[in-house]
Amino acid sequence: MKVCVLGLRGLPQVMGGVETHCEQLFPLMKNLNPRDSFTIIARKAYLPRQLSSYQGLKIVSLPHAHGKHLETITNTANGVLYARFRLHAELLHLHGIGPALLAPVAKALGMKVIVTYHSRNYEHRKWNFLARSVLRIGELCTVTFADRVIVVSQCLAASLKQRFPWAAARISFIPNGATHLIAFKWENRFDDDVLARYGLEDKKYIISVGRLVPEKGFHDLCQAFKAAHIAYKLVIVGAADHADKYAARLLGQASDTIIFSGFVAHDVLERLLQSASLFVLPSYNEGLPIAALEAAVARVPVLMSDIEPNRELGFQPENYFRVGDVDELRHKIMQEHERYHVNRDMIVGKYDWNLVAAETAKIYATLQTDAGRRETRSNARSMSLKHRIFAAGFGAITATGADRCLRFVARGRGVILMFHHVRPWRTREFAPNRVLEITPEFLDGVLTELRREGFDVIPLDAVVDKLRLEPSRRPFAVLTFDDGYRDNLEHASPVLRQHNAPWTLFVTTDFLDGRGRLWWLELEEAIARLDRVVFSRNGGLVDLASRTTIEKHAAFEAVYGHLRARPEEGLQAVADLAAQAGVRPNRLTTECCLCWDEVQILAREPEVSIGAHTLSHPILAKCQATTVAREIAESKSLLERRLGRPVRHLAYPFGDPSAVGLREFRLARQAGYATAMISRPGHVFPEHLAHLHALPRVSMNGLFQDRKALRALLSGVPFWIRNRGRIVTIDR
Ligand SMILES: [Zn+2]
Repeated sequence: MKVCVLGLRGLPQVMGGVETHCEQLFPLMKNLNPRDSFTIIARKAYLPRQLSSYQGLKIVSLPHAHGKHLETITNTANGVLYARFRLHAELLHLHGIGPALLAPVAKALGMKVIVTYHSRNYEHRKWNFLARSVLRIGELCTVTFADRVIVVSQCLAASLKQRFPWAAARISFIPNGATHLIAFKWENRFDDDVLARYGLEDKKYIISVGRLVPEKGFHDLCQAFKAAHIAYKLVIVGAADHADKYAARLLGQASDTIIFSGFVAHDVLERLLQSASLFVLPSYNEGLPIAALEAAVARVPVLMSDIEPNRELGFQPENYFRVGDVDELRHKIMQEHERYHVNRDMIVGKYDWNLVAAETAKIYATLQTDAGRRETRSNARSMSLKHRIFAAGFGAITATGADRCLRFVARGRGVILMFHHVRPWRTREFAPNRVLEITPEFLDGVLTELRREGFDVIPLDAVVDKLRLEPSRRPFAVLTFDDGYRDNLEHASPVLRQHNAPWTLFVTTDFLDGRGRLWWLELEEAIARLDRVVFSRNGGLVDLASRTTIEKHAAFEAVYGHLRARPEEGLQAVADLAAQAGVRPNRLTTECCLCWDEVQILAREPEVSIGAHTLSHPILAKCQATTVAREIAESKSLLERRLGRPVRHLAYPFGDPSAVGLREFRLARQAGYATAMISRPGHVFPEHLAHLHALPRVSMNGLFQDRKALRALLSGVPFWIRNRGRIVTIDR
């Protein structure tokens, strides 16, 4: 495979965490995969020679604009074109979320893309508002377009997965390494000239390492050091990338006791670390601090700010001070430095570059196409690409303000929202049904946002009148919950009560009886447990590996797609897989769904209305007309009989165009329902009075539990764009 690496200043011996990372990682990657070629794109300003090589890597130095805002992006843009048209690279490995802005271009040019996420650059203080917004878009490009995302710190990986659950399967944590300093032979390098050059004495100075940028917090360290009046010197190793005010102010503090060494070569840094009495890292923002790992390996006591990536190194509480707390830092550097000793063996064992390279190579391997599985894989990819494009679309709609400008045409009279599960967040890699699940906190957020945006939350019964009467200034919102899950009672109902919000629960009567099959949940649980998924399809046998999360998603899509196309065969396949995996279908139904008693109690609450969702939750369009008529009419009469009140509304199971059509709309009308809901997304307009048995709903999708997506959905703009301005999208 031809690999091109982008986003760093250059290597070897170029200052910076990303640069050290690449300098250590890629020679090892070359060793592991000698047949692959690795080309590193460097920047002219740091490596003036155009072509060189280093430990089997080819290094190409490309031009770029100057200045902190444009340097990275112009160099990366050059690099992407070079990679595609000169190098014919198959894989682009981008470092950092700034360079990841070019990920969509790389994908469009047909290359595979890996992004290593080193830190939340948009929190860096050196950037202004615009640069921060652009970097946030870079983060969005990372999760949307990269085939794989590698994150160097565990807490950053967890946060990324939580914020972008739809991308979680592609995000992996692989730390930085620390073992590169061990390779040097310490005893041969006792060069006291180095200390003399900076006027230092053994164990008589404090050291800190990093670029002279605000987020490294060196200003705090200088202030604390000056206030401490101790018999040590302070050495800050590192240079400024760009001559700016911050760096100038910092360098202005240089004195006999505060020394700025500028950038130094690796061996000089090691010598300086080795004789230091204490290493301090006062930073406000890190990915995974290589400088601290280097200090630990050099056996220097370590003191660092208590930001999460620093705490992730797992040192004793003694080794940390509150970030930005100059007084605590002053107090701590006045103590005996020996007390800040760290467990070097733990660091060496945990942060081994060989392990980092092996893990990274595994990720490369998953990108090599396996022709035998191309079909299901492309299926899984297109699914997730759809979600990725949605997310990017929501981001773009709110970022451009389209939700504000267009909502008056797109919002209609209001919106009917569709919910399924409401329950606390659970971290799971393989959760294909996550779309159906939101947290109680997000439900609370939805209700708050509705109020903030001026929506009236009304009962479903009031919709027809709202459409008939003169438009009011305030749009309406209706809350509907499908299937009859117990978590609606446990987690949704308290939140809804707090907001005095009326809601409708659409129940499937078989589920209330503890019969019925939640086959999509059976399938998820079965595939989660199985290593191989074998089922028959159209007379042949399909045999899929199901070990990794990606494979499991592909297998799920394959069985799910088959079931939607041929329900009888598919249901049998799910039943067989569930039996193989030891999943008991009835247990899922009784565990997840409400029983009759509970629904009877809910039905008595004034804010709750119960609607029908058929007897057995079939894909109606695939059933005989007599079955459809029975499913629609008998669920209504059964509910009315058992609950002792009229049931006026119906939600069709699945509700998309392949599951429900004109025949079902007619039967629902004939059965006496006032309205019936589909799940094709859209807002509600007066035109829908002629289509009351096909009212669109907007699903509160568990993959997009954030305010941006919510604002876009409530504006109606995504559906308006998708339907190219048409309001009623069903066929007559
Ligand atoms: Zn349903």
